[in-house]
Amino acid sequence: MTRYAHACHMVWDLAGRPDPTDKARGDGPCSLCGVVGALHATIGGNFTDYRKLAVITGVRMCVACSWTLGGRPPRALRMWSMVARLDRAAPPSQPGAYVTGEYLHLTNRRDLRWIAATLAAPPADGSSWLVAVAESGHKHTAPFTTVNHGDQRWSVQLDGCDITSTPRQWRAVLSRTVALRAAGFAADAIESGQPPVAVLTGERLAAWQAHAPVLRPYVNTPLLHLATLMITKEHVGDYLTTYPTD
Ligand SMILES: [Zn+2]
Repeated sequence: MTRYAHACHMVWDLAGRPDPTDKARGDGPCSLCGVVGALHATIGGNFTDYRKLAVITGVRMCVACSWTLGGRPPRALRMWSMVARLDRAAPPSQPGAYVTGEYLHLTNRRDLRWIAATLAAPPADGSSWLVAVAESGHKHTAPFTTVNHGDQRWSVQLDGCDITSTPRQWRAVLSRTVALRAAGFAADAIESGQPPVAVLTGERLAAWQAHAPVLRPYVNTPLLHLATLMITKEHVGDYLTTYPTD
């Protein structure tokens, strides 16, 4: 099984190695991943995240990075959230997905369940996997996400932000968030830890007392925001069954 060092190579491979829009012009190290080979596109003028560059003085990119960062919406990867994992075939991507592959799942806010499931139980065989979540669709996430190996500590990219956690921590945060969403609390009340006093009565108050203390260390963190993003009204029942709080 291929061990991937860089997200662009994993996504490009699993998408079937599509051609980038820019033709090759010369050879050298890719400024984004560092692999030496034919160079295609240049990094756009708006690029500012120099922490992510393998070659900080470079501007040209290899075929994989050129394709992953290329395209124009809606035919652009940055519009999509995704899971790439090699140990299990992916569920079908959302209709209209830009690309897809047996081990590549493209989705959006309508259904992030394969993302939630992968973060809760990543591949246990040590194989490469990655998750990128595009909330705004304005920022590239997949090219900058970390390729994880193993089922312990992981990192995912959410818009411009790296989020690091563990499957165990994720299951705790997600299950409590689901319980509070199901009890009727709004996502922003959960994320801020401050629901309006008027809603804290009866069964809802009991739910808050049961679950909010577990989420207290995560108030206003990207991890808690990621958990609330997963949960749609349509799938809250499914999440409740899949992620019990005990
Ligand atoms: Zn590259």
